[in-house]
Amino acid sequence: MKTKIWTVENSDKLSTSYPHLSQAAALLKENEVVAFPTETVYGLGANACSDVAVKKIFEAKGRPSDNPLIVHIASVDKLEEIVSHIPNSAYKLIESFWPGPLTLVLEKQDKTLSTFVTAGLDTVAVRMPDHPVALEIISRSEVPIAAPSANRSGKPSPTQASHVYHDLNGRIAGIVDGGSTGVGVESTVVDCTSDIPTILRPGGITKEQLEAVIGQVEVDKALVDEEQAPKSPGMKYTHYAPNAPVIVVQGDDAFFQDVIKQHEQEGRKVGVLATKEGKTVLKANKIIECGSRSDLHTVARDLYDVLRAFDQEDVDLILSESFPQDGVGEAVMNRLLKAAGNQVISQKK
Ligand code: AMP
Ligand code: MG
Repeated sequence: MKTKIWTVENSDKLSTSYPHLSQAAALLKENEVVAFPTETVYGLGANACSDVAVKKIFEAKGRPSDNPLIVHIASVDKLEEIVSHIPNSAYKLIESFWPGPLTLVLEKQDKTLSTFVTAGLDTVAVRMPDHPVALEIISRSEVPIAAPSANRSGKPSPTQASHVYHDLNGRIAGIVDGGSTGVGVESTVVDCTSDIPTILRPGGITKEQLEAVIGQVEVDKALVDEEQAPKSPGMKYTHYAPNAPVIVVQGDDAFFQDVIKQHEQEGRKVGVLATKEGKTVLKANKIIECGSRSDLHTVARDLYDVLRAFDQEDVDLILSESFPQDGVGEAVMNRLLKAAGNQVISQKK
């Protein structure tokens, strides 16, 4: 299949220019699969009401069929067509955070969506992305759009169109290139079907932000205890992994340097994922900079690009800085530990 590529340079003038967004939307209506930018990462969209279309997402990504997809909508009215009940907590969260990086799990309507979207569950995950290109394509397609991240399953999520091209060229109908995404980590997934809303996956909206709007929020036990089965089916899979193994190093810069030295002495080519601050003090064969310790949003923004960049380097092992697990650091550490298959080296106190 030849993958069409459209470039959008000025998202401010979408409604008057860019007729090719209608071409992308028309392909979606024809049950083809098209990648487009959202504020978090690039999504791989397909008509969420069509079995044929949704199956193409799973095929293109190589995604396990028991991992349900997030449905993307461009206006709140559409929500009522796909869910059967909207609790008060969900209304409040929608009011505060949509459009934005927050996905709500709600009870689904029986007939509207393809059952492949929800992997047979009674609930559906829905969000409204905060990106003019995504919103325009979804509204022009006139259908709810199922859209997981536009990468091959297991690989880091794409934050640039070139990442999508690398993974999916020839496997999908089109890619809309809208430049780099901003947030860099995926949406926070919150289950609103339980009495107390529960975070199933940390992401762009923090627990503190959610609690400021609806009071107490729980966190799925599986996020803090490896022995527990996650409530979100996708959380059990390996994710975000570059070719070389990743180890997260927890400790000060001197400890990190010792760990690097030890691996180098054992003959390994070590790549280091370090912040701007870490890069000024650490010495290694290859260091790639990932944001700044002073603002973890910059680490979130750069993380997947840096993990992918190591695939272009001749390294046997990637050692990564670790980050405080609060605010957006929660999502950053969740993704890094997944990329590392939970391999951590910690400094003894
Ligand atoms: P992705 O589309 O790759 O960003 O991943 C979507 C995430 O949302 C995965 O972790 C899914 O398991 C999760 N998810 C989607 N639908 C549901 C649902 N109905 N209940 C719980 N988790 C869900
Ligand atoms: Mg994904």
